[in-house]
Amino acid sequence: MSDLAAPRGEATISVPGPQYSRIEISRSALRRNLSLLRSLVGEGCRLSSVVKGNAYGHGISTVVPLAEEWGVRHFSVYQAQEAYEVRRASNAGSDVLVLGFQAPDELEWSVRHGVTFSVLDLAGLRAAMEAAGRVGRAAVVHLDLETGMNRTGLDGDDLESAIRHLRERPDLLQLDGVGTHFAGAESEGNHVRIQRQIERFRGGLDQLAAYGLRPRLRHTCGSAATFAYPESHENLVRVGIAQYGLWPSQETRMRHLIERGRERSNRDPLRRVMRWSTRIASVKEVGPAEFVGYGRSYLTTRPQKIACLPIGYGQGFPRSLGNLGFVLVRGMRAPVVGVVNMNLTTIDVTSIPDVAPGDEAVLIGKQGRKEITVGWFGDLSQMLNYEVLVRIPPDVPRHVVS
Ligand SMILES: *Cc1c(COP(=O)(O)O)cnc(C)c1O
Repeated sequence: MSDLAAPRGEATISVPGPQYSRIEISRSALRRNLSLLRSLVGEGCRLSSVVKGNAYGHGISTVVPLAEEWGVRHFSVYQAQEAYEVRRASNAGSDVLVLGFQAPDELEWSVRHGVTFSVLDLAGLRAAMEAAGRVGRAAVVHLDLETGMNRTGLDGDDLESAIRHLRERPDLLQLDGVGTHFAGAESEGNHVRIQRQIERFRGGLDQLAAYGLRPRLRHTCGSAATFAYPESHENLVRVGIAQYGLWPSQETRMRHLIERGRERSNRDPLRRVMRWSTRIASVKEVGPAEFVGYGRSYLTTRPQKIACLPIGYGQGFPRSLGNLGFVLVRGMRAPVVGVVNMNLTTIDVTSIPDVAPGDEAVLIGKQGRKEITVGWFGDLSQMLNYEVLVRIPPDVPRHVVS
């Protein structure tokens, strides 16, 4: 419930929060994924739990304390606002690293609150120094190295200039780490390009070391490279998608299974952390040869039972699933019929016995022996699994389950 100030000085009124759907976050699944990742990287390497995009839709405030229960003490985000949310949710005083571009007031906030951030280019380094000057405290930075992704990062003369600034102004800049990002470690097709990136990263470390700069943290790997390029784990890996129980690609998954001689096993070594469901709002009988919903996209072929779900594309259920997707009701698949509306979706429950308002409808996750995976949901809606997750609205209540 939220309180609103009522007009004309009346007592405050309360309004119920949105209840159209529910997300369950599995503590045991997250634990299992983190321990698998930890076993891959070994003792000398830490995990940074990547919680950008509202923890890939799982909820920063839910994931951070759970990850801390399993020993995570480092989180990566994209913006200062997210770093603030991590700080607020943290029970263990974990480190936070901001990976993205920041505006001057975000930089100032980060410096003032001792939030570590990546410097993505020379302009960013100058802006960080200015922010540090205004706040009167050194900015704690990671240098992003350009190693061949050709997106962000320092190399060549720019890296030399950055090194000069770091050496000359320890009052404004404190170097905590150095990182880079691979251009597609989830696909073997990029192998040569990534080998070249690994070499250039090492070259960058040597260049820093030549000036006596040996940053505490060195990191290159996201989830895919954590699986596929163990030689480049360095001493920190930034894991996002895998901790949530999803594979960066089918290729990464198959390769991991083959390496362990488990390619015939049906059991996925990662466990899905999220389950997203809603409840049927109403059910009605519709006669044969009737259109359902807007326009003429769905025509009944016989007397059918049509149920309404109180979610639509405004609540993160992709419009592209109209006449294409499924949800799970009473352990069976119910197809989406007609177009997905902003706040309402119609499904066909003709072949499912005894469906009634209030029945659970699973959008992502298991019900009985069936499962709708994020990957499958993404394939149908032409979205990457990452994209499906980040589009789930932040106001859906997250419930931690075992
Ligand atoms: C998002 C991101 C990650 C995490 O990637 P996953 O594939 O989800 O593990 C790591 N590093 C950077 C720089 C990122 O932006």
